[in-house]
Amino acid sequence: MPTWSLPKLRISRQRKLALLVIAVAVPAIALAGFAVVLTLRVAREVEAEAARYNAYLAEKVTEAFEVELVTQLRDAIMPAEAVARDGGPEREILRALATRSRRFEAPHYVPVDRMDNLSMIMVESQVLLFGDDPTGRREHPFAAVVLRGPTGDVTGAGGWWFNPRAFIATSLDSVVRDRLNTNPRMYGGLEATRNLCVQVFDTEGHEVARVRDPGFTNTARTADMTGPFEGFHVSVTATSRAPVSIAQRFVLVEVVFILLLTGVMLGAVVVAVRYILRQIELVQEKSSFVSNVTHELKTPIAVVKLAVETLEMKRFRGPEEEGKYLRTIMREADRLAQLVDNILDFSRLEAGKKMLRMGPVGVSDVVASTLESFRLRLEDAGFLLDVDVPESLPLVRADGIALQHCLLNLLDNAVKYSRDRKEIRVFARARDGFVGISVADRGIGIEAEHQARIFDKFVRVESGLVHTVKGAGLGLSLVDQIIRAHYGRVEVASTPGEGSIFTLLVPVWADGTGTPRPKS
Ligand code: ADP
Repeated sequence: MPTWSLPKLRISRQRKLALLVIAVAVPAIALAGFAVVLTLRVAREVEAEAARYNAYLAEKVTEAFEVELVTQLRDAIMPAEAVARDGGPEREILRALATRSRRFEAPHYVPVDRMDNLSMIMVESQVLLFGDDPTGRREHPFAAVVLRGPTGDVTGAGGWWFNPRAFIATSLDSVVRDRLNTNPRMYGGLEATRNLCVQVFDTEGHEVARVRDPGFTNTARTADMTGPFEGFHVSVTATSRAPVSIAQRFVLVEVVFILLLTGVMLGAVVVAVRYILRQIELVQEKSSFVSNVTHELKTPIAVVKLAVETLEMKRFRGPEEEGKYLRTIMREADRLAQLVDNILDFSRLEAGKKMLRMGPVGVSDVVASTLESFRLRLEDAGFLLDVDVPESLPLVRADGIALQHCLLNLLDNAVKYSRDRKEIRVFARARDGFVGISVADRGIGIEAEHQARIFDKFVRVESGLVHTVKGAGLGLSLVDQIIRAHYGRVEVASTPGEGSIFTLLVPVWADGTGTPRPKS
């Protein structure tokens, strides 16, 4: 199985991830989780506190209704009280009660000997008497206060039948907004009730009255009403403007904020770690590149030196062998020149300084002059060359020298990566606004999985022959960059063991359709 030449430079993905998770992600996620839990706990505490206060307030509202009822009774009872104190008869008392029955339904008087039927509660140190009609004719309860005779003894209970539902509906607003707030025992009443919704429901759960709308229903707490209001219950809930509701909304925002922040932080860390790892890889790649290039330079120099020494000491057998040594020197010098060109081009491209001089270029000219300088090497290596470049091809928009350089790299590779079947074919065809210049060999070929990576800089597929053939992994990367700068692309078709075809696709010279090159 072929392997890449740089595997030792790459830190495995799992290790990268493990490093990242241990160093940053785990603490970041733990901290974020802690912050979320803490925020939710605080929110729950605030909610529980609000609910506790609402329960307390619901109790207070039920009491406030009783106070309201007693206050209204006391206001209205005064004339009847005066009559009773003067020893007036029951008839007179009833008449006095009738003068103040505007707020109630009908007056009623219970003499002291029948007061056993009435229930009694203390409301702020005052006695509130109440009861139902024993005859069952009245559907509403009776509410009363005690009346005293001239001696100060209780003579009976004077009061009115009244409709608790109507009473609640008409007095809820003043109970909540005035009575609770002016009650000296309702500490903080004003502040607290301002943002609270108070509702009263009947036994069937139907709403009787409300002050403000409920907002955060988790905080709703109820209290049952007693005395003449039995069967009704008061519910207190935070409105949407209550601090607890606002806090709740902030909790949501805060949790989202914490999660986003963590996400951004993790993203930044991933980017930073990737950047650092890439830098490390680059440094390693560069040092491997330097050692590759040094090797590449040293080999031809050694060969040239040996050949020159042989010639100098006249250690050859005849003119034929002398010619062979001279050709060797020439070939190795060409190799050196190409390598130096590659390195220079590479550094210019990296620095963004390589300028391409674009113009109309004839593909057959480019191919001819490239082969001219390469023919010696091909012949020496015993390659069969087949060239098929029609003169009629359209001109391409290119830098002729750069294009030659690309072709030279492809030819060089074709020679390097061929074994026994030493055949190279160079051909060109027009295709969809491009001219494709192809170099085909019958060499070792490239596995499909490696075909895309060979265009990356410093990359070499390290398998069999490639291992023994020298190279810096620069050629195809340069070819790719140069052809891209031409707005073209490089294609590769290869079968391992069968050979490869590299095609440079260069756009035709744009004068509409591409002018066919006139035959010379
Ligand atoms: P170098 O030849 O210096 O290693 P290149 O960038 O020219 O660098 O090529 C990169 C890799 O692509 C080579 O190492 C080789 O594995 C593969 N390659 C290029 N051309 C061919 C070819 N014609 N046949 C087989 N493999 C090739």
